[in-house]
Amino acid sequence: MDKGFFGHPIGLRTLFLTEMWERMSYYGMRALLVLYMTGAMTGFNPGLGWSAIEANAIYGIYVGFVYFMVVPGGWIADNILGHQKAVLIGAIIIALGHFTLAIPLEQTFFLGLILIVLGTGLLKGNISTIVGSLYKDNDDRRESGYTIFYMSINIGSTLGFLICSYLGEKIGWHYGFGAAGIGMSFGVYQYIKFRHLLGSAGAEPNNMPDDKRANLIKWTKLSLVGMFIVIGMGLLGLVSFDPRAFAENFAYFLTTVAGLYFLYLFIFAGLNSAERKNLLLLFVLFIGAAAFWSGFDQSASSLSIFARDYTDLTIGNFAMPIGWLQFANPILVVTFAPIFAGMWAYLGRINMNPSLPLKFAIGLLFMALSFIVMIYAVNLAMVSAPVGMQWLLITYAIQTWGELALSPIGLAAFSKYSPKRYMGQMFGLWFLASAIGGVLAGLLGGDAMSEGLLSIEPIFAFMIQYYLIIAVILIALSFVIKAEDVQKAE
Ligand code: GLN
Repeated sequence: MDKGFFGHPIGLRTLFLTEMWERMSYYGMRALLVLYMTGAMTGFNPGLGWSAIEANAIYGIYVGFVYFMVVPGGWIADNILGHQKAVLIGAIIIALGHFTLAIPLEQTFFLGLILIVLGTGLLKGNISTIVGSLYKDNDDRRESGYTIFYMSINIGSTLGFLICSYLGEKIGWHYGFGAAGIGMSFGVYQYIKFRHLLGSAGAEPNNMPDDKRANLIKWTKLSLVGMFIVIGMGLLGLVSFDPRAFAENFAYFLTTVAGLYFLYLFIFAGLNSAERKNLLLLFVLFIGAAAFWSGFDQSASSLSIFARDYTDLTIGNFAMPIGWLQFANPILVVTFAPIFAGMWAYLGRINMNPSLPLKFAIGLLFMALSFIVMIYAVNLAMVSAPVGMQWLLITYAIQTWGELALSPIGLAAFSKYSPKRYMGQMFGLWFLASAIGGVLAGLLGGDAMSEGLLSIEPIFAFMIQYYLIIAVILIALSFVIKAEDVQKAE
């Protein structure tokens, strides 16, 4: 058995480093995005001067598309490219996207974002799939393999905040974007150098007759041409674009796609009754996850603006970059992930391991609590701003505990309970929850910051209510969805 990387197949090292650099670039750039868009157009390090509503809507559309494109990216890898090649092409496109953003021109801004979206669509889901294919079916190291992989995500985002936020905020936005591109280039370099260590995992697309594949390739090419025409028209300003309206419609679109897809699988995919019950369970988790990310992803939108405008970021004589506050999340993920895993294992041994919907409800309760802390901080800021940075740090810490009750658990649940023959697409559905959450984060974050401090409380209070309502529904469902096979499978 290959144990070349901490007792895991050596190929995991290649994926670890690739994902680490990809997430470094993704989170590093994302921490700058809304600040750059809403930054004043004059003075040191001029931004684009856009309104909070507009900038947050664009942020939401961006995050939504990044995760939505994982679905077609998975399809292309499954049927045409194979996962390994898809990751390579994706990584190169992402690096080009960040370098495009590094060019200090407003015209290149949207082109850079589009390239990152397209590249991440090819990389993010497919690299997660290859992790699973490094192990034989009955290899019980798979789950801990995913845990190690989750670490790479968080080490990557720590590096991203550290480097990109410092350069972007203190020297110039475009240096931060460029640093993200250099980080991704390290990822590309090592992936090319060490890709052979992956062996046959994810090397080939699905088996099918040549003429069928040729047909799929033809339709893919046609779709790509269509897509590039639309993108080209958008970039040339031939179609008008209202970010807020677009983000709202995109949220409806994503919700409809996800709903129809679950319905299709439920009715037409020929699932047996046990598989249908599991699908219902995953649907419930999906709703919890989408709600969760709608709060979590505000770290780089409304909460970043709050950090910039109403928080004291000085330590001694040093004014800390705004993005550095977000360290709290990845550092605490790495610290607490083993503790949470140990706690679930212990509860399992004494037969008290919470069911999956219950864990998701816990995630949402933490999310609600984190925004209660924020409302407290907003009220303090109304009396006298800036407030201390501890409020945002506590908020991120609480959200991280929520993340640990939901995100790694959700990934593992989707890999365990999905109908096997629909595995790739089910991972796509999992990321669709992130897409919906991302767009909602942009919409809600924009509303929250639209009138400065005054508009924050009603929006955060509304969010707290919906987290609580969904958490209660999940808790109620955890009693109902106790179907035998689901229980057994757990
Ligand atoms: N933090 C995790 C990652 O970056 C999960 C993000 C998400 O699914 N929204 O992969």
